[in-house]
Amino acid sequence: MNKRSISILIVEDEEAIRSGLIDVFVFHGYDVDSADNGPEGLEKALTGKFDLILLDIMLPGMDGYEICNEIRARDREQPIIMLTAKTSDEEIIQGLKLGADDYVAKPFSIQQLVLRIEAVLRRSRIGIEQARTISLSNNVQIDTENLTGQNGAEPLTFTRREIEILSYLAANSARPVSREELLTKVWGYARNLEIETRTVDIHIAKLRRKIETNPKEPAGLITVRGAGYRLLTAD
Ligand code: CA
Repeated sequence: MNKRSISILIVEDEEAIRSGLIDVFVFHGYDVDSADNGPEGLEKALTGKFDLILLDIMLPGMDGYEICNEIRARDREQPIIMLTAKTSDEEIIQGLKLGADDYVAKPFSIQQLVLRIEAVLRRSRIGIEQARTISLSNNVQIDTENLTGQNGAEPLTFTRREIEILSYLAANSARPVSREELLTKVWGYARNLEIETRTVDIHIAKLRRKIETNPKEPAGLITVRGAGYRLLTAD
């Protein structure tokens, strides 16, 4: 049986960065395609044939946020990593809010980038063992197969990554789970990777806006001080 090679789409307008990334990924045996502007990036992204999309933010024609938003509107499974400016919290938060799985801040070390990418690909192919439905003590129902849910009368939709977080917390609902544990188990990061706990916190904040009646006083996905996050399931 032929093993399909892993394909990555790079959407980046800066020639030096784009060609550098192409070289690195080709060297690692990936199948690489690229776009140097927003509309072409979106068009390629929507073909759905990429295992991972690396998405720059400032692009001619259409920015990375809009592209991320358009991809997520049609595909909540597609792994996306945003390339952000190192110092810009706003960029990082905005990208993750729109459904990116993670971000890598520029300038990045190639080694860190490759490790992060391998982690994202590993998780998205293996997945996490999960129950078909998760019921929370605050009356929220989550359908892990369809990436949907119900908060009272309000229908919910989730990204694949959000469902993985909820599934991992649900499988360990007897105890709080630390950010580091979520990063290693859900994001698939090796322990020696730079720890990006902000990624976890922003995903948790986004989940709370969906599954909590009052996100500021969570009743389903609680914070256990000094220990991490705990999901209070109904059973
Ligand atoms: Ca750019």
